[in-house]
Amino acid sequence: MTLILCNKHGTSSFFESCEHIRELLKDKRYDEIKEIQAIVYHMKVCAKCIEKYGLEKYILCDSSTYDTNLDEPDEFWDDFEEAYDKMNNRIAWCARCYDELVL
Ligand SMILES: [Zn+2]
Ligand SMILES: [Zn+2]
Repeated sequence: MTLILCNKHGTSSFFESCEHIRELLKDKRYDEIKEIQAIVYHMKVCAKCIEKYGLEKYILCDSSTYDTNLDEPDEFWDDFEEAYDKMNNRIAWCARCYDELVL
């Protein structure tokens, strides 16, 4: 598990998102936030970035399918890394801070 040190929550689990998630949360547009499988953790990406970076194939239907990504072929992750590198201004989130915003 990837951990982050949060000012509020201390050591907490962590994930990254694209730069637009903050705004979607503020407007409560939760249906535009997609969870995708990244190499060692899940990421949250807005619907626009999914389209822009061709991330459709990484969208998770069920966020509990965490281990299945290890079975994917190398090309699957090469494509992901390429898209990931193009996503600038990613935000690192403390999972508990995020949950508080969603509630
Ligand atoms: Zn985005
Ligand atoms: Zn926190």
